[in-house]
Amino acid sequence: MDEHAQNKCIICGEHKLEGIYIVSEFICDACEAEMVHTDVQEEKYHFFIHRMKQIWVQKNA
Ligand SMILES: [Zn+2]
Repeated sequence: MDEHAQNKCIICGEHKLEGIYIVSEFICDACEAEMVHTDVQEEKYHFFIHRMKQIWVQKNA
């Protein structure tokens, strides 16, 4: 397994090859797919927002 070719997902913490960058942080395909459907899953949506806020706080610390 080539670690350099992988990105660590900020949501699930897994190292994945496929995914997107949001606010310069990597989100894997699986979590990104879940985020797309969060409009019908309020709890998940708030979970993602909470994780995003933690990232912003860390960046501004
Ligand atoms: Zn993920």
